[in-house]
Amino acid sequence: MDGIPLELRYSLPEKGYERFWEGLKRGEIWATKCDKCGVVYYPPQVDCTNCMTKTEWVKLGNKGKIMTYTVVKAKPQGYDKLEDYVIGIVKTEEGVDLMCWIKGRPKVNDTVTLTTDGMRVIGETNAL
Ligand SMILES: [Zn+2]
Repeated sequence: MDGIPLELRYSLPEKGYERFWEGLKRGEIWATKCDKCGVVYYPPQVDCTNCMTKTEWVKLGNKGKIMTYTVVKAKPQGYDKLEDYVIGIVKTEEGVDLMCWIKGRPKVNDTVTLTTDGMRVIGETNAL
């Protein structure tokens, strides 16, 4: 079995989400949080789907822990020329699960430093 291709794509409109897109260019990761019920959204959502309240922007820290990951060998269209790459779910210190590209040699429970490449979030393992 070759596995299932896993693609990382945000389908956020630009309008209303400028802080998210601009943040990625500056190396920042932004989520939104509902003041009323405390739900944190990543990717961000302007309105809380839980209680229909407007959310506030919150900047996430740059540390996280690898919860799971997969090595992508069967690449989706447009990525077929890339080397095999690793996509993982990282839990941030705020408790937010975010999908990101992993650089380095991942191990579950490893701490990663979260950065961006201008377009997406990257978790760099601290292991050599
Ligand atoms: Zn809410």
